[in-house]
Amino acid sequence: MSEMRIERVETVVVDIPLRRAHRFARASMDAQPVLYVFVRTAGGVTGVGEGVVPGGPWWGGESVETMQVIVERYLAPVLLGRRVDEIAGILRDINDVVAANLFAKTAVEVALHDAWARHLDVAVHTLLGGLARTRIPVTWALGTEPAPVVVEEALAKLDTGLHRSFKLKMGAQDPADDVARIVAVAEKLAGVAGVRVDINARWDRLISLTHLPALAEAGVELIEQPVPGHDVDALAAISAALPIPVMADESLRTPADAIRLVGARAAGVFAVKTTKSGGLRASRAIAEIAAAAGIPCYAATSIESPIGTAAALHFACSTPTLGWGSELFGPLLMAEEMLVEPLVYDADGLHLPDGPGLGVELDPARIAAFRRD
Ligand code: MN
Repeated sequence: MSEMRIERVETVVVDIPLRRAHRFARASMDAQPVLYVFVRTAGGVTGVGEGVVPGGPWWGGESVETMQVIVERYLAPVLLGRRVDEIAGILRDINDVVAANLFAKTAVEVALHDAWARHLDVAVHTLLGGLARTRIPVTWALGTEPAPVVVEEALAKLDTGLHRSFKLKMGAQDPADDVARIVAVAEKLAGVAGVRVDINARWDRLISLTHLPALAEAGVELIEQPVPGHDVDALAAISAALPIPVMADESLRTPADAIRLVGARAAGVFAVKTTKSGGLRASRAIAEIAAAAGIPCYAATSIESPIGTAAALHFACSTPTLGWGSELFGPLLMAEEMLVEPLVYDADGLHLPDGPGLGVELDPARIAAFRRD
């Protein structure tokens, strides 16, 4: 079994062009930087994982540049010479060497799962406990542009048949104007598609309690993270005041956060991202805590390329309690394909690929084309 011994750890940063600029409250991007981490074993098997944040360090402090340094200088030495099936011990030792940096750790953790699964000739979801489903609905995310622009994009997306709900980014303008914009969009989409909003922690308790009831009245079905991640008290007050669920995102990174949110009754839905939590295992732990508390989960995104999307999909398809579906639209936003065989999206959602490991293969020519020098 020495074939499972890790011989090499390599990283590469690519910048993948987007089909259109993606706007958050304060940041915008027209290409998504992605860090790929490759873990190669003595048996000649290579596992790949992806480190990615939504368009830069504004969300959680990490970027592809910080992730590359952390992986190459501090995490790779922990991996070298170890067997990929010693994954629990490797992850324990990684946490002894590097605090926080969960996005970087995700890239390594997923690469280890991919390599381990390929050695066993099983799919990653098998290592996560088996399947609950083989496809998942995908919400489309709309930016902070004016209502007519957003509605036009939403209607065009509905015509493709790929999406039945939309998540709108908020927080880029005055709250009253922003609410008027969303109400206008919700009126146009009423009865046709679900409308959800993500405020990305831009508001405080008072602004939220003042303005969110109007969104609920307008038919918005879910409010994501109105207040800063640390302000669990405010999140709980907002949850108690609204007739629709509040979803925790910035407030939820670790299983310990999940326990805290459950105890405070702060969220009705958990946004789970393999990227922000350190990988598949932490995501699984969060989903188990949520299930025990009766809280449905949502497979959220950091706008992953197809590798990170496949990892999130293996998590999603092995998690029974994803009552709110997913927003694993990253590959659809990208203008360039990175896989030999693209992921399949259709009216039923995003389909789990067949095959060992993550079930997908990166195209080396595409990596070469978008590699950052
Ligand atoms: Mn969010």
